Amino acid sequence: MSSRIACHECDLLQIIPALPEKASARCVRCGAVLYRRKPNSINRTLAWTFTGLIFFVLANCLPFLAMKSGGFVQETKLVTGIIQLFKQGLPGVSALVMLTCVIFPLLDMAGTLYVLLPLKLNRAPRGAPRVFRLIQHIRLWGMVEIFMLGILVALVKLAKMAEIIPGLALYSFIALMFAIAAAANNLDSHLIWEKLGRKI
Ligand SMILES: [Zn+2]
Repeated sequence: MSSRIACHECDLLQIIPALPEKASARCVRCGAVLYRRKPNSINRTLAWTFTGLIFFVLANCLPFLAMKSGGFVQETKLVTGIIQLFKQGLPGVSALVMLTCVIFPLLDMAGTLYVLLPLKLNRAPRGAPRVFRLIQHIRLWGMVEIFMLGILVALVKLAKMAEIIPGLALYSFIALMFAIAAAANNLDSHLIWEKLGRKI
């Protein structure tokens, strides 16, 4: 199975044959590398996605922050924080945190598993191209997570009235972002499109 790709250097559209692992295809006109097949892409992406799911559960179940003032400790979970932001008249921020910290990572990982697990067994799930395109759109929001983390750090520093202790969920969330980034880095979207094209 072959596919078409445009050279990013000279825009020449050319057909790329199915490549073995670690092989790369170069442009016939200018020699630029068009595509390099990532080694063991599906297994590695799946492994990082499962790792991400574990950290996702931890990030949502464990206390995110603990506020300590005068011997009184109050623990806050991510979900409680989102509800608090909403109650304090910040529905926009509340929704942004909800989307970037809960909805997008979950959709990203669920979508990746939905497409890749059947592909590993040489099957194409229903609606796979649409789901795969959705994941790639969600990934564009990946940077927002880092932005959110910056806001969180700023909030922690600003909150002077109480001592704030970062909880295990905060570290799990950071680990989750790394796992998602590693999954994205190992995902060979060209290979996935090629496989989807063959099965559907
Ligand atoms: Zn070229």
